[in-house]
Amino acid sequence: MLKKVKIVIVGAGASGIAAASKLLQGGIDDFVILEANNRIGGRINTVAFGDNVVDLGAQWVHGEIGNVVYDLASKYNLLGSFCTLFDTSKHEFFTINGERISKEESMKALTIYFDLMKKASDDLGKAEGSFGNYFREKFYKTYMETFASYSRISELFSWIEKMECSIECSDSLSEVSAKRLTDYWECEGDSVQNWKERGYKTLFDLLMKKIPNAENGLPVTERIELKKVVTTIDYNSGKDVTVTTSDGCKYIASHVIFTASLGVLKKKHSTLFVPSLPSKIRRAIRGLCIGTVNKIFMEFPCKWWSEDTVSINLVSLEENKKLFVQKYGEEYQWLCDVFSFFVVDYQPRLLCAWIIGKYARQMETLSDTDISDGLYRLLQDSMGKHYHVVRPTRILRSKWFTDEHFQGSYTFQSMNTENLNVKPSDLAEPVVVNGKPVILFAGEATHDHYYSTVHGAVETGFREADRLLDFYQR
Ligand SMILES: Cc1cc2nc3c(=O)[nH]c(=O)nc-3n(C[C@H](O)[C@H](O)[C@H](O)COP(=O)(O)OP(=O)(O)OC[C@H]3O[C@@H](n4cnc5c(N)ncnc54)[C@H](O)[C@@H]3O)c2cc1C
Repeated sequence: MLKKVKIVIVGAGASGIAAASKLLQGGIDDFVILEANNRIGGRINTVAFGDNVVDLGAQWVHGEIGNVVYDLASKYNLLGSFCTLFDTSKHEFFTINGERISKEESMKALTIYFDLMKKASDDLGKAEGSFGNYFREKFYKTYMETFASYSRISELFSWIEKMECSIECSDSLSEVSAKRLTDYWECEGDSVQNWKERGYKTLFDLLMKKIPNAENGLPVTERIELKKVVTTIDYNSGKDVTVTTSDGCKYIASHVIFTASLGVLKKKHSTLFVPSLPSKIRRAIRGLCIGTVNKIFMEFPCKWWSEDTVSINLVSLEENKKLFVQKYGEEYQWLCDVFSFFVVDYQPRLLCAWIIGKYARQMETLSDTDISDGLYRLLQDSMGKHYHVVRPTRILRSKWFTDEHFQGSYTFQSMNTENLNVKPSDLAEPVVVNGKPVILFAGEATHDHYYSTVHGAVETGFREADRLLDFYQR
């Protein structure tokens, strides 16, 4: 099959749908969106589970001022707040061998951690080296002044490090560039807003203008072709671009807006683009980083944790991890990297386990039964003396690394990014042939300040659609 269109958008995630809606509003309707999966949304994946829905990818709207997602959602009162997350009294801590850390101790530890992070925003710009170095130095200095036991400090450090890695999406904090953290902008206002019982997928109805009135929606869905895996984007002719999909279809277009993740670019750019991309873009693909963060939702027949708990957290020393592995075997080692179980808004019977890095990738290869059994053992060993832990009835987990259409969770700037002196905006430079932008890049990894977020992804989709609208106006 051969189709001729003005624009091909590759990917129906937040940036692809944002670009499509902007094009339609600007008067361009001659485009198609090719999506590899059998669903739209990309790293927004709202799925029915428990008593309503859960988000396997993006879950929270981070901030209000300058946040395009907040601007779209707030006027229809679609957002709620998970502000209890910052109440230090609502988090419980256990060691993996079953000791409960006192509330007094954990509250003190969290207060210092939150304060350290606030102060960090002032002096990271001057820091040399990795965020790990910076943080370790500040952390041990402050904690040594407060806590008497060195092993308790080490336990707390191991948990805080994993929590920070889940925010950055790195395997370790030593990978993360301290200086480059100042490039990331926090939007002021509530930083953990949820979508109540509807999930993040509501954003697509907002982008397509189906809210408040579905009948007045933009005709975006009609232009989406699902299960279309783009295999080559050939811009050799100097005029048009030929996009080929794995089922043999060809699309001849004047422009391509490419929105697949940095993980996909890293793995496939050398075969996807003909000819190869310009060296500046290849260097940016090499220098920017994407890590793995996964969630495992566990459904229980009833709530067994205390009413006002927001998270149950696990700390562990290396020797405790070794004992755990000796007891259960190497194949259970991944469990030692599960660091938190969060309650889920509007889902009273669910806990969501978070895991990062190497063991998050290993977890993706295991069966649901192994994961469910493993997590039950972990909960039993760490808090079985304090709670009547019951077996989960079902689990649902993400697999962002092994899914070939993502190959990672979200972008961060590493020491390698800093050393190669590349920026997300290097990846946003279009490939121009004979004065015409033929390949344009959108997606969270192309935003200098809001990389790793949905609001960043949406802005980049708007940005590239505007680039084409400007091109045709001129
Ligand atoms: C676990 C997790 C938690 C997160 N939590 C939050 C959060 O709370 N708040 C927040 O703001 N952000 C969060 N994020 C980040 C956020 O989800 C992403 O930044 C955003 O959704 C990325 O959108 P995108 O359009 O750039 O890319 P994607 O969503 O990846 O869209 C790209 C699309 O391209 C498709 N594609 C890939 N290859 C091809 C191909 N060859 N041919 C055709 N199509 C292809 C993919 O299937 C995908 O649909 C989270 C992400 C993860 C993984």
